[in-house]
Amino acid sequence: MGTTYQVKIAQASISQSELQTLRAKVDSALARVNRQMSTYDPGSEISRFNKFEDTTKFEISTEFIKVVRKALMVYESSEKAFDITVAPLVNLWGFGVKGHRITPPAKKEISSVLKNIGSSHLIPEGDNGLKKSLPELQLDLSAIAKGYGVDIVAQVLNIERFENFMVEIGGEVYAQGEKAGGDLWKIGIDTPTLASLPGQNIQVILSLKDVAVATSGDYRNYFEYDGKIFSHTINPKSGYPVTHNLASATVVAGNCMEADALATALMVMGMEKGMRYIESIKNAEAFFIVRKNRDSYDTFQSSGFGKFLQK
Ligand code: ADP
Ligand code: MG
Repeated sequence: MGTTYQVKIAQASISQSELQTLRAKVDSALARVNRQMSTYDPGSEISRFNKFEDTTKFEISTEFIKVVRKALMVYESSEKAFDITVAPLVNLWGFGVKGHRITPPAKKEISSVLKNIGSSHLIPEGDNGLKKSLPELQLDLSAIAKGYGVDIVAQVLNIERFENFMVEIGGEVYAQGEKAGGDLWKIGIDTPTLASLPGQNIQVILSLKDVAVATSGDYRNYFEYDGKIFSHTINPKSGYPVTHNLASATVVAGNCMEADALATALMVMGMEKGMRYIESIKNAEAFFIVRKNRDSYDTFQSSGFGKFLQK
């Protein structure tokens, strides 16, 4: 996934050898997710599906179908803001496997690539099949796979009978139970200062128990051209990176796959539309950070978000 992970377990007695066994189990679970969903692995399921320029059924893992079905639900509910078929646009804008760029692509390149976008061309078949009705269709699960990976690691920890832990992959988190000493897990939301490092400036701190949290933002993966920020969140309708001033969107939800997808959907929609959307989704809350100018921000939160703010 091109990032790091971290697991914290609140438990007094765990031996070095138990830890090593656990680490091996977590690593192998994540390696499996990569072999399914990483476009950086040319032999992964997603890479093979992307190269498969055919409209017949493609055999794929149950886990892959599960993630695709969730992505399609968010595609529908978000009125096509969240769309895992954006891959050709992500690549064209230099945010994918094909390397970075420092100037926007030409208009006609964008409109030609736009023809091959749209999750309505993606058809899951049962638990192991996936079809594309457009041979050129390409998938990018970057906006949902990290969250899914967090859920998978949490599942491994539960199978191993750990009850109190925190899992984090590239900033997406699941917190279960409590820290040693009985406090809730504390997770900071970064201030979206352009090019800042994780944890460098914290906007607010959340206290979490048995929930997931994911953040999407424009401040880490972007290029600047002609005084404008072009970030890695692409509006699938226009073919351009989003242009509004929402700098980051954080979602708390029951599982991290959902939180991850919703946070990206909010980044596409912008603050106002995003607020209406998140209020319509059961069991999900959001925190928005809007950029006023280069270094000042306004924050907004959905009606049920307050309970997650550190008291
Ligand atoms: P991060 O990967 O930084 O946690 P996100 O979860 O928001 O952030 O994922 C952003 C990635 O999702 C982009 O780099 C791109 O690969 C992909 N993407 C961009 N626009 C969309 C979109 N409209 N719908 C789904 N995925 C998208
Ligand atoms: Mg996401």
